[in-house]
Amino acid sequence: MIDQILAAVHDAVLPESHGMPADYIPALAEVEPDRFGLAVVTTNGDVFTHGHTDTPFTIQSVSKPFALAMALQECGPAAVFDKVGTEPSGDLFNSVTLDANGRPPNPMVNSGAIAIAGMLVDAHGDCAHAETHDMFSRLAGSELGFNEEVYDSECATDHRNQAIAHLLYGSGVLTDEPEVVVESYTRQCSQTVTATQLATMAATLANIGTNPITNDQIIDPLTVRHTLSLMFTCGMYDGSGDWAVHIGIPAKSGVGGGVMAVVNRQLGIAVYSPRLDEHGNSVRVIKALEALTEELGLHVFEFSNAGSSLLSVYLQ
Ligand code: GLN
Repeated sequence: MIDQILAAVHDAVLPESHGMPADYIPALAEVEPDRFGLAVVTTNGDVFTHGHTDTPFTIQSVSKPFALAMALQECGPAAVFDKVGTEPSGDLFNSVTLDANGRPPNPMVNSGAIAIAGMLVDAHGDCAHAETHDMFSRLAGSELGFNEEVYDSECATDHRNQAIAHLLYGSGVLTDEPEVVVESYTRQCSQTVTATQLATMAATLANIGTNPITNDQIIDPLTVRHTLSLMFTCGMYDGSGDWAVHIGIPAKSGVGGGVMAVVNRQLGIAVYSPRLDEHGNSVRVIKALEALTEELGLHVFEFSNAGSSLLSVYLQ
């Protein structure tokens, strides 16, 4: 059933050819633009895939919610939200602006993610990348890859992120050298996932932090709640409002063309297609998620959505 729905959505959205792969990171402009894969992993551990779901791509900003979860668990919410706000910015993901207190608006845009990377560098020093890679691989249930070429290409052209890091250093949010933190953040973004791995990471969030395939308990429930709240309000950048109205599932996009969406206690979804719109979100992914939401009634406020299973336990 899910297999057939994924195939139908794939075929319906395939002709959509608007948008272009990101080119501000030169190596990303070279990816095959018409790749398209859809993967769904349920909280029971069932896996459904269609299209290019074994093709690795760079995780980019889809790493941000997971890095946030790491920082929340290791440093605590008070320390994290003291440095990074929780408000949607309405600006581009790589906007070089901070709020009136010199803080990033939220952890889903570059400024916030660079601040989070700084907290992880503080906590782990030179091992920050290894720790991130290890946690992400546990979330995916298999080891993530790394794209050296995309990493080098971004490092050679990351003037905006360097500018953001220097602003954060100036306002005291970063205490480590800005260059060191941006390097760590860029490494985090240059890890590669397949759509199937990314859907498993999403399903781990949907399953309140336990990987539904390996049963590895990785993220605590309060951290999952904080992470999904910020994905819902800020995960699609300045396209988050539209996404909330038309799709209504906490999600996070990346300029590599991947998006993950989390249907609480039910599904992790990942869709990969590199052509992006003006917000840096994949054009086909938006259409595919719209179609899936309609077909399966996934919008969080959809009347047919079963909602909190905890509540249903109390109501029995
Ligand atoms: N590494 C990218 C950057 O910092 C991630 C941006 C994104 O995926 N939106 O610009």
